[in-house]
Amino acid sequence: MSAVAAGRAEEEARDVVHFELIAAGRAELAPYGVEIQEDTVVHAARDGDGFVVTTGAGAHHRAHKLVLATGLEDQLPEIPGARETFGKSLFHCPYCDAWEVRDRPLAILGRGEKAVQLALALTTWSHDLVLCTDGWTRITAAQRASLAAHRIAVRTDKLVAIDHRGGRLEAIRFARGEPLVREAAFFHGQCRPRSPLAAQLGCRFTRSGSVITQSFERASGGLYVVGDASRDVHFIAVAVAEGVRAAYAINRSLRIEHTARILNGSDGMKLNPQITYRDVQPTAALDRSIRDSVQRLDRYHPNILGCRIAVEAPHRHHRKGRPYRVRIDLTVPGKELVVAHHPQLNPAHEDLSVALRDAFRAARRELQTHARTRRGDVKSHDRLSLPSAKNGIRGRRATTIERRV
Ligand SMILES: Cc1cc2nc3c(=O)[nH]c(=O)nc-3n(C[C@H](O)[C@H](O)[C@H](O)COP(=O)(O)OP(=O)(O)OC[C@H]3O[C@@H](n4cnc5c(N)ncnc54)[C@H](O)[C@@H]3O)c2cc1C
Repeated sequence: MSAVAAGRAEEEARDVVHFELIAAGRAELAPYGVEIQEDTVVHAARDGDGFVVTTGAGAHHRAHKLVLATGLEDQLPEIPGARETFGKSLFHCPYCDAWEVRDRPLAILGRGEKAVQLALALTTWSHDLVLCTDGWTRITAAQRASLAAHRIAVRTDKLVAIDHRGGRLEAIRFARGEPLVREAAFFHGQCRPRSPLAAQLGCRFTRSGSVITQSFERASGGLYVVGDASRDVHFIAVAVAEGVRAAYAINRSLRIEHTARILNGSDGMKLNPQITYRDVQPTAALDRSIRDSVQRLDRYHPNILGCRIAVEAPHRHHRKGRPYRVRIDLTVPGKELVVAHHPQLNPAHEDLSVALRDAFRAARRELQTHARTRRGDVKSHDRLSLPSAKNGIRGRRATTIERRV
């Protein structure tokens, strides 16, 4: 196999591993009742003692704690060919990619102290190195001596393009002089956060665009920032470890807060419902009222394992008025109970408090019936159709019952 073919095969194998890893991670989350929504969070704000995030599709989610794992974006050299070669033969991190191009002719793109350090770091893997500074730059006598000691050439001509074949670098082209034949290049450039969320939440940043965090990756309050988005070296293992540290700290802090609420009598909360708002602006008061209703449900069933609430206001142009839709998914041992409200059935639900009241009443009835069935008091009960994505709130398929409100 040629070097190029071997490189492509390696890339394809990496892609397969990448997707398999994501699929495996998602599969592992499923038994824990984690819902994955493929959407971009466009806004995040603090709200009372928690956070509200808004997605591109218009859903609002409220949470006590928030983890940002939104990564960083590398600013590539602004020359033709950089985008096409990035990740294939143009790299930013020697520890990630230099082994694969060891002993090959390499270029370093960049200027200043950081670029000189990058060139010197690469001597671990190759001794055929040229530092390309894209124009004249001041190099101190000490830097020049270090570069010379490792036989690293310096080329100060203006860069024009990276010539490549299918992303495989072949040569660096300059405004004058001969092209420089190379097999790969490393660059030193700036990074910027992939998302504006940390800035919206008032985080403090390092000069390289990472969020400054404290112990256990806490940025402030209940906000945690992990992975590349936070300040530390940027490796997958480090990102995973930071996620684990944040999860540990969040769980501990939720438990401590919960104990404190029980001790001061302000909360007997056992269930931590997941609430989604679609086209409804969540307020702390609305959220609290829904959570209170959820907590009262445990009077009707001894063992509610999970609860999801979706509140949606269909768009005005769909119909006269604006009836709200409320869907409650309850997980009890061995069953999913779904209470879904269909607005066409009840115009009174143009009032959100009425829609919620009726949804929770129906949920209570479902729980009572289910609890009685489990005890053997009721032999069976009616089974209604599941909501379709078209006329109900989007959500998981339920395994058992839908009760229309
Ligand atoms: C070319 C290249 C090669 C690398 N090679 C290696 C290597 O060999 N070994 C190694 O350990 N590391 C390597 N790294 C570094 C590694 O990829 C990162 O350290 C790691 O991916 C960081 O994980 P993360 O979850 O913090 O961020 P990311 O992997 O960047 O993930 C962030 C995720 O958040 C999503 N996101 C961002 N904003 C939003 C939003 N507003 N709403 C919803 N989602 C959002 C993004 O779409 C993305 O999926 C390499 C990086 C690059 C670029």
